[in-house]
Amino acid sequence: MNEKEEEFVARKFHEHYSSNFVNEPSFVERREFGFGIFGKKISERHFAFKTLQDFNNFLRNEVPFYASCSPAHYEFPEAQPMQAKHFLGADLLWEFDADDFKTPCAEKHTLWKCSKCGLTGTGRQQYCTSCGEKTAIDEWVCPECLEAVKKQALELIEWLKNDFGFGEGLSLNFSGSKGFHIHLRSEKIFGIPQAGRVELLNYLTGHELNLELLGFLSGKQKLSGVALQKAKGWQEKIIKRTRQIIESADAFGLHSVTNLREKEAAGLLEQKEKLLQDFEQGRLLDFGKKSREFWKLLLESSAESLKLKIDRQTSIDLVKIVRVPETLHGSTGLLAKTLPLDSLKGFDALKETIVFSRNPVKVFVERTPKFYLGGEWFPEMENQEIELPEFAAVFLLARKSARLV
Ligand SMILES: [Zn+2]
Ligand SMILES: [Zn+2]
Repeated sequence: MNEKEEEFVARKFHEHYSSNFVNEPSFVERREFGFGIFGKKISERHFAFKTLQDFNNFLRNEVPFYASCSPAHYEFPEAQPMQAKHFLGADLLWEFDADDFKTPCAEKHTLWKCSKCGLTGTGRQQYCTSCGEKTAIDEWVCPECLEAVKKQALELIEWLKNDFGFGEGLSLNFSGSKGFHIHLRSEKIFGIPQAGRVELLNYLTGHELNLELLGFLSGKQKLSGVALQKAKGWQEKIIKRTRQIIESADAFGLHSVTNLREKEAAGLLEQKEKLLQDFEQGRLLDFGKKSREFWKLLLESSAESLKLKIDRQTSIDLVKIVRVPETLHGSTGLLAKTLPLDSLKGFDALKETIVFSRNPVKVFVERTPKFYLGGEWFPEMENQEIELPEFAAVFLLARKSARLV
């Protein structure tokens, strides 16, 4: 983006911060802050603010494109080097990003461009189909992939509440771009050491999950399972998910998960009741020599579908700083909006985080897929001048997909 575009977006950001007070983050005086300029998410860090008012003054006066802060709490957050800050503890933080979800829609809204011959195309094409050079990938999001992210965020919230009793202090915000952040800010968990954070993350992501250690198919001969009544944690999750799969499966569905021939799967489904009843009591139905492989693939598929796709780095790197909730994201102009946990399900992220107006702005669009923003769909565009509502213009200018006219 050249100066003109940068200035335009900065002016809009200034207007926003001048008329809106950012009431985040909690424990403001203990956190390290970092800020970004156009095209660089963090260009400076080691900032600190005594009050939210000071932080808001900074946003109004300096108008950063990105504002991040530490999940870590420090005695002297502005001190350098890191050790001089005196680490006091840290929030727990989990991030989901649509780019990590291989949803089918991404093939339609991921753009690539060859850096050598200039050829363009759609999909995650890593090398140019004409000259073989590495391509530049431009990822977009749509309601469908954000829906997948939301589903996992909801799942995580359930697990945190049910498996760990973490309810108080949980908060949730849109990242401002492609995902969601879930924070746990509570004195009770500040002191969890690094090893404990890794262990917790491993549990949530099913890292190195071992079915046999959980009691499934652990004997050499018999098909051992786990009774639902005695099941805990992952055991219980796997049993319930497997039950769901069996309940809703048709012969083809079961065939594609377990390698069983469709006819055999149909035969098995005829005794669905018994299959489910035995399974819940910890007995895996033996129907011949393919039984073991059937159960193994079915249980593995359940476990796989349950693993939460949490960004590892964000959760365990305590030095990393992340988007301050309620601030603007410099690559989209969208608000990293905080929302009540129970409203996530119906939340339309690409609509409800719009802060700019519908006033028309004329831009020259370089290239976009068909995209959804502000409750409407915009058509695929390439090298064209067009008048767009301000929020869409800011979005395209910020992500360098358009220029001002
Ligand atoms: Zn090429
Ligand atoms: Zn999508």
